[in-house]
Amino acid sequence: MGLRSAIERKANMGNRYGDEIHAFELAGLGKAPFAFKGTEEKLFRPTPDSPAKPGGTCQFCSTGITTCYHLESADGKRFYVGSSCINKAGGNGLRSATKNAINHEKNKKRWAREEKKIAEGQTIIDHPKFRAHFSALPHPWADQEKRPYGPDYSEQTALDGINQYWNICGNSGKCKNLKHLKEQAIEAGVVTS
Ligand SMILES: [Zn+2]
Repeated sequence: MGLRSAIERKANMGNRYGDEIHAFELAGLGKAPFAFKGTEEKLFRPTPDSPAKPGGTCQFCSTGITTCYHLESADGKRFYVGSSCINKAGGNGLRSATKNAINHEKNKKRWAREEKKIAEGQTIIDHPKFRAHFSALPHPWADQEKRPYGPDYSEQTALDGINQYWNICGNSGKCKNLKHLKEQAIEAGVVTS
């Protein structure tokens, strides 16, 4: 820790005098600016049954870390640090770069999950057995007496209703609707995985 505090003192001093030397550069991790190259989860289990421990070591402060932020210096040195060193010593640019990249990763994962669910729903709706079953049933709003002022659904089928609902739903609505579609698939005798 002696080295670390010396580096921090030097880095702070640098800031005080308007010196632009980056704390990571002072620590010998390469020349600034540093580019964010992605995160990696590093876990360590001494035995298969034991709880997971941080499997990485921050190369700036030597703390054990789980989420490693990979960086590359301007002169091509690759290393990684923990989130607190990104936030404390990384500087504004690196802080926002990592934040954006992590949000982007999270969104990508969410989109992939949604896409999978939507494809599953579409497969159910397109299934011949499903179509046959629900096109033989009336639209849930077909009873004009109960809906005297609404549009006329008396000529429409339950399948029309299902398609109408599916088409007006956004991605999250479609995902929420999947559970109900699966129940309808069972009702129609459609076997899905
Ligand atoms: Zn650190």
